[in-house]
Amino acid sequence: QRLGDGVLLPCPCRMLLLVNPQSGKGQAVTLYNSQIKPMLNDAGIRHSMFTTEHQDHAREYVKGADLSKWDALVIMSGDGLLYEVINGLLERSDWEEAIRTPLGILPGGSGNALAASIHHYSGVSPVFGEDLLVSCGFLLCRAAVFPMDLVSVRLSSGQRLFSFLSLAWGFVADVDVESEKYRHFGSARFTVGTLVRLASLRIYRGKLAYLPAAGSKNGPSRNSCRSNNSVPVRRTESGPPDSLLPPLDQPLPDDWVAVREQDFVLMLAMYQSHLAEDLLAAPDSSLSDGVIHLFYVTAGISRAALLRLFRAMEKGTHLAAPCQHLVHAKVRALRLEPLSPKGIITVDGEVVEYGPLQAEAHRGLARMISG
Ligand code: ADP
Ligand code: MG
Repeated sequence: QRLGDGVLLPCPCRMLLLVNPQSGKGQAVTLYNSQIKPMLNDAGIRHSMFTTEHQDHAREYVKGADLSKWDALVIMSGDGLLYEVINGLLERSDWEEAIRTPLGILPGGSGNALAASIHHYSGVSPVFGEDLLVSCGFLLCRAAVFPMDLVSVRLSSGQRLFSFLSLAWGFVADVDVESEKYRHFGSARFTVGTLVRLASLRIYRGKLAYLPAAGSKNGPSRNSCRSNNSVPVRRTESGPPDSLLPPLDQPLPDDWVAVREQDFVLMLAMYQSHLAEDLLAAPDSSLSDGVIHLFYVTAGISRAALLRLFRAMEKGTHLAAPCQHLVHAKVRALRLEPLSPKGIITVDGEVVEYGPLQAEAHRGLARMISG
């Protein structure tokens, strides 16, 4: 059965809920019992709960799980637990089938950007906190599954990981990490973190290059994939091969755009609409458009202008008012070469190895219960 472009889960369906009891303000299990369990029962959705006991528990579990027992895996936590589940699925030898397992997200963490994005795509007016949880619970009960883009990120060590949300360097990554200590504020941790970091604004030197998405300004008219210069697929590596990325130490093809070496305040690549519950960073993003929204802010922006930018992002109007330091491009792949000796890079809000990296969009690789 279909709902729009979505495919409905079988009825009755069996869901496994992966709940991180430590996420957000530490109330995920309580919220499950008070809000989600009755809702799923009323909808006739059979489900079991799996409580994570430590970091990487969910990743290890999905790597070895018999996925045929479930029609969907639902993550009740922040974005961090979904990141584990997606990477666990793609580390399996049967990754091609495993990554097609329908996934669901219920906002139980402090960083609930994907839940906010999915809620936004459903077209209902924005809500926050527990209201967002309840609203996402209803979307889950409708059980309509849609393709979702993933982005493969290649680090300088050669490690590759998969991302569903964002890649950040500079200001946004710093706030993400430094605001961990304000997690008891819930999603307000990012607002507090932003104000703290604004007070001691840093700049980072680096180089950036990207492959524009077809149809955007300067976009390539053809697929720039050349199998003879793409990364040789290592036999031990699971997940789809990258077709747009030459090795990190090799020059980029001619149809890439190089941004000159300079000082940046931030680089942010987003593939879904929301950076946080209340930050609509890429308003015209959709679940599986294959587009990476690349934003960067160059040095020289005033604190007041940067604050205005983040305030405008709450309504998603930051691209309407021109700011000479903010650049936005729709891209299919990118390469970042940080030159400052120290800094933070995050993927979906999780810290990764600092250094050069490149990324490529894989359109509709995952399956997500969405509106
Ligand atoms: P939040 O948005 O509140 O940060 P996340 O889902 O991002 O919530 O989870 C934060 C981190 O907690 C993730 O890196 C996850 O691996 C880790 N984690 C999962 N289960 C547990 C647990 N039982 N105890 C501690 N950390 C956990
Ligand atoms: Mg998190």
